[in-house]
Order: sequence, then structure tokens, then C-alpha cells
Amino acid sequence: MSRPPSTPGSSAWNRVRRKKDYEAGLEIISPYLDALYDQLNEQFFDGELVDVPLWSPDDTVPKFRVEAFSLEYRGLAGCTMDHGVIRLDWSVLTPTRVEPILIHEMVHVLGFKRGAAELAMHGGLFVEELRRLHNLGAGDWARAEAHRYKWQLDNPQKYQEILDDRDPRSTEVPRATPPLAPLKTSRAHFSACLAFTPCQSTARAPGSPHAEK
Ligand SMILES: [Zn+2]
Repeated sequence: MSRPPSTPGSSAWNRVRRKKDYEAGLEIISPYLDALYDQLNEQFFDGELVDVPLWSPDDTVPKFRVEAFSLEYRGLAGCTMDHGVIRLDWSVLTPTRVEPILIHEMVHVLGFKRGAAELAMHGGLFVEELRRLHNLGAGDWARAEAHRYKWQLDNPQKYQEILDDRDPRSTEVPRATPPLAPLKTSRAHFSACLAFTPCQSTARAPGSPHAEK
């Protein structure tokens, strides 16, 4: 039975919210996020991501590299498009959350830019890059993520079993390795689950999202 558009969580409600969020995010949040992207690019990537193109859906909308979105309806905290544009869910836009998740997505951008599939997805090069970032002082999250993705690469069968056992209707995402320490935000648990779970390594059409789901 379909729910009325006024029902939170219904597809019509999500469509409306998504459009509103998209417009508001571009105007208010994206200039700040683009500036943060430039800062992190210098700090952690030697400026290599500087020529990643800005993007907008059409000529009437300003172009940015990082866009604030409502992604929760898709069960995502962040995703990176093949053309290099990053989309972050509102819920990660807190001082403690935004940098780790933005840096994580920037590693995907680096992978797309270099045409390196292992880096663009969560492969061995991705793990190496997370370790490099941790050594540069990016934070403990980078080490924890490296550990998580390494375990998934080393235990593909066990990891697949965990994914297969998941209730498809559940927004709770399985953890194959010990959970990270709780984060200090109001929606921390939900966001943390989404932020540190894997992308599916399936073939994607050009322009399709690289999703944190
Ligand atoms: Zn990812």
C-alpha cells in the first residue's frame, strides 16, 4: 500500500525533500564544503585533486565539487560520482564527521582521476591510501577503516555471508569487524554505520554513483 506524500519516508516525501535539500545545500553549504575540499586537498593529497571539474545538473545551478544532500532515504552517508563530484548527507555535516567522510570520498575521487579501480573502489590500494592518510595525521578513523576494508578483502566469503544474512528492509548495516567508538553526534550510530560500510564492487555505468552503502 503506498503512503501519502506527506508521510515521512514515503518516496514522494523523499523526492520533495531531496529537491529542497539539493537547492538549499548548493546555496548555503557547498561553498563551505568546496573550500574545505581545497584545504584537505593541499593538506593530504599534495594538491592532486585541484583539476577535478566542478559540476551542476544544468546551467541554472551553480557548480560545485561537494554537494550537501539528503541521502538518508537511500541509506547513504556519502557517495562519489564517476566525474568526481562528492555528495554528502546532511547528517555527516558536523565538525567531527564531515572531515573523515569527505577525505574518504576524496580517496575515491583520486582513484577515478588516476583510473585506478583498486583505489576508486575499496581495494588494496584504497587500504594503502587510508594507512598513508593515518600516518599523515588524518585521524584514527583512517586506521580503523583500513583495518575494516583489509579484513573484507582477506575474508571475502565471510564478508559475503554477512551481507547475505542482512535483512534487506533493515537500515542497520552489518559490521564485519569490531565497531568503531561511538561518535558524539545526535544521530551518530545511524551515520557511523553508513559511513564505514562497503561499496559494492559491481560494474557501474558512467556517471553512476559510487555509493557508501
Ligand atoms: Zn567508499
